[in-house]
Amino acid sequence: MQVQEWRKSLYVLDDGRVRAFLIVGSNGALLIDTGFPDSGVKEAVEKITDLPLTVLLTHGDVDHVGGLEGYSRCFLHEKDWHLVRDGKTVLEPLREGDEFRCGDYCLEVIEIPGHTYGSVAFLDRGKKLLISGDSVQKEGPIYMFGSHRNLDLYIESQKKLKEMEDQIQVILPSHHEYPIGPEYIERNLQDAIALQEGRLPGEQHPFLPCFSYRGKFTEFYY
Ligand SMILES: [Zn+2]
Repeated sequence: MQVQEWRKSLYVLDDGRVRAFLIVGSNGALLIDTGFPDSGVKEAVEKITDLPLTVLLTHGDVDHVGGLEGYSRCFLHEKDWHLVRDGKTVLEPLREGDEFRCGDYCLEVIEIPGHTYGSVAFLDRGKKLLISGDSVQKEGPIYMFGSHRNLDLYIESQKKLKEMEDQIQVILPSHHEYPIGPEYIERNLQDAIALQEGRLPGEQHPFLPCFSYRGKFTEFYY
């Protein structure tokens, strides 16, 4: 696990496959995502802070909720609750406009269904910072196959984020390169539209039940 204090009080916890984020305030801390079951996010957090922790989840895929064990409570959009199988963690809903304050950060929930039905991003309008989960990435692959995903909704959500582009300077995605700029919202959007319209060449993935489609900037597994 690689831990970096990327900006004052904001830590990036990266296991080489997926990253989680930790914001440490004076009375409490916010953890955004928990990695895979074997990522060691909890251990990494405990080395940084012992303040009371609020756990927020960008969505319900296993590489984001895998480290939930040991946390009694977390916030996740209700539409992804069925993806969390552990049964021990109490789930609290995330809704559009909910705000979580910690130190000088204020994270606002933006619902962006598509990658999963319960996907959200967290926007700090003051800092012009977006934590995008898997929905905005530099190159992908962005996973769009399976019954818990919806490409049409993904496109609508990218359009919604694009409308907010003037409030975003920096994006922290969960996978691959970070930080990235807000121009990737439009790049992901254009490639998703090309995919929807059948304009991207695809090839069968060697072991996943999907095809790989390469857009100009973004690869999708669909
Ligand atoms: Zn992911």
